[in-house]
Amino acid sequence: MLTLTCPHCGIRAEETELSPGGEAHLKRYGPGDSDEQFEAYMFARKNPKGVHFERWRHAYGCGKWFLAARCTATLEVFGTYPAQVSAPPEPIIEAIRARRPGWEAGQ
Ligand SMILES: [Zn+2]
Repeated sequence: MLTLTCPHCGIRAEETELSPGGEAHLKRYGPGDSDEQFEAYMFARKNPKGVHFERWRHAYGCGKWFLAARCTATLEVFGTYPAQVSAPPEPIIEAIRARRPGWEAGQ
């Protein structure tokens, strides 16, 4: 079972206490952008076997949104962090690189 630590309240929560919110760090497109950019924003999502950044909400706890970096193949969690950032914090990137040598952001 997937277990994530909420960065807001510090509680280690099981997957059943959380609500998934999809891929994290999406670049939003809207009026004025091309149809292809808007289509990609609306419908195209990564579905990697490996490192993935995701949005989660501590639904049966504090109720706040946060982001998590984890491996979709092994459920290994590299870290969680507040949702008010546009890119993964450096300690999260370092934790991923320490356990997945050769991994590069954007894979
Ligand atoms: Zn919480």
